[in-house]
Amino acid sequence: MTVHLVGAGPGDPDLLTVRALRLVQSADVIVYDRLADAAIVALASPSAELIDVGKAPGKSTPQELISALLVHLGRDGREIVRLKGGDPFVFGRGGEEALALAEAGIVFTVVPGVSSAFAAPAAANIPVTQRGVARSVTIVTGTCGDGQDAPEWSAIAPLLDAGGTVVVLMGVANRRSYVDLLLAGGASPDLAVAAIERATTPAQRIVRTTLAELPNARIANPATIVIGDVVDVGDRLADLITTSFATVH
Ligand code: SAH
Repeated sequence: MTVHLVGAGPGDPDLLTVRALRLVQSADVIVYDRLADAAIVALASPSAELIDVGKAPGKSTPQELISALLVHLGRDGREIVRLKGGDPFVFGRGGEEALALAEAGIVFTVVPGVSSAFAAPAAANIPVTQRGVARSVTIVTGTCGDGQDAPEWSAIAPLLDAGGTVVVLMGVANRRSYVDLLLAGGASPDLAVAAIERATTPAQRIVRTTLAELPNARIANPATIVIGDVVDVGDRLADLITTSFATVH
């Protein structure tokens, strides 16, 4: 009788919350898209109905239709899981789905998930905050829907300058334009950048570059981009782990 908006985490099924796992295993219907890892959808009961509303380029279901589908399913008395990558309320349009359900008078719950905004840096050994290095972390989208301007970039450059960390989601396609805005706003071209592709999955790949070189780096979707001095801490950790663990084994 309820629609659950469930965060699936970044990909590795071990990073599901206990509640997400329980709901995925017991749901009558699972509505999922491209960012919900196949290994997680595979945890569903064999009798569950699986509905793919995948949002890959060229194969997408408009958001209004997804919301309408959830409202429709929510009326028929079954347990519905709307599985969304990472956390459902971090750039997942989960808020729009929640509003549509609430307006239709349908009971729903929100199950937070491990967002790629934190899981991807962690997978690259990057602490997004660190005493003496970064006292803030800003999560921003690199893609602006419906032709809007992106005024936040001019506010973000000073944050980088002050040592803050910036995590860009959906930041692969538009790299050139937001990097230009950051550089124009005074951010150093030498700032360290890490892009983590397909974090926490077997296909994870880390690209290390600088702010000035970010537009030219070879990076594939989905990737999380981390900008700031904490990326150097990740490098130090990676070196230490390689050397100290090598002596242990
Ligand atoms: N709600 C999601 C974010 C949805 S926006 C969350 O909290 O994680 C989609 C963006 O998330 C992608 O463009 C990419 O920047 C990031 N992302 C999602 N899964 C990822 C993964 N496994 N590795 C790296 N980045 C990922």
